[in-house]
Amino acid sequence: MKLVTFEQGGKARPGIWLGDKVIDITAADSKLDTMLAFIAAGDKALTAAKAWSAAPPSGATLDAKAVKLLAPIPRPTKNVFCIGRNYLDHVKEGHEVRGTAVDLPKAPQIFTKPPTAVIGPDAEASAAKSVTAAFDYEVELGVIIGKKARDISKDSVFDHIFGYTVINDLTARDLQSLHGQWFRGKGLDTSCPIGPWIVTKDEIADVTTLELTCTVNGERRQNATVDMMIFDIPTIVSTLASGMTLEPGDIIATGTPAGVGFAMKPPKLLNEGDVVVCEVSQIGSLKTTIRRP
Ligand code: MG
Repeated sequence: MKLVTFEQGGKARPGIWLGDKVIDITAADSKLDTMLAFIAAGDKALTAAKAWSAAPPSGATLDAKAVKLLAPIPRPTKNVFCIGRNYLDHVKEGHEVRGTAVDLPKAPQIFTKPPTAVIGPDAEASAAKSVTAAFDYEVELGVIIGKKARDISKDSVFDHIFGYTVINDLTARDLQSLHGQWFRGKGLDTSCPIGPWIVTKDEIADVTTLELTCTVNGERRQNATVDMMIFDIPTIVSTLASGMTLEPGDIIATGTPAGVGFAMKPPKLLNEGDVVVCEVSQIGSLKTTIRRP
């Protein structure tokens, strides 16, 4: 199932995306008025939504062309967790551009992006030239937590996952290195496009086979499969949940493969009007237009 948050008449509501139509989940059950409420409602809500997909309640079906999609979780309740340097070729390209020896992370490298950075599909990401001289793209697989997780084994990680989405971890490279900590370089407003929807985990037989691709103005820059991660999804989620509670609706960006703009020779950073498309196979395609006022 593809789950969206859509806007119609100035109101955001969760929905089931059927391609040409959207089923308004709140029209079917008034308590399920946000994606976070839907995820928190657990398996009962998922079972109900499957039934509504097959037989929509009267008055709940909308024309897909009549709605605007927002990020599937437009305002996460906490920061988006992110894994840095999680694909070998991306680690190598970073060291090569800095002229330093390859030093692989010994544990997942974790940073976050604030909720204010989140934007939806087909939106504009704006980074003023006065703030950053080096704005860059990073396609990533996003993991959405479905069930509360604390001190869980790697084996049980998939029981706690709700589904998957596409994330573009837009990054101000100059701020990332200037401040030592990555938070400011990763946290600018509009620097976290997410979407276009969440695909529920039952639709993904083997997450490691998913293919990530990023194009800029149609030119392919990044391409890799999830099995190339240094730390896999069970390791990432169980590490985050060790001594720290993960909750329904928490979002994890799992790292980007090689091909980012700052590591190209010469560097190809983002300019005014650039169109970045981040795609994950079996999930979807997330388009962002870049503004550089
Ligand atoms: Mg990243």
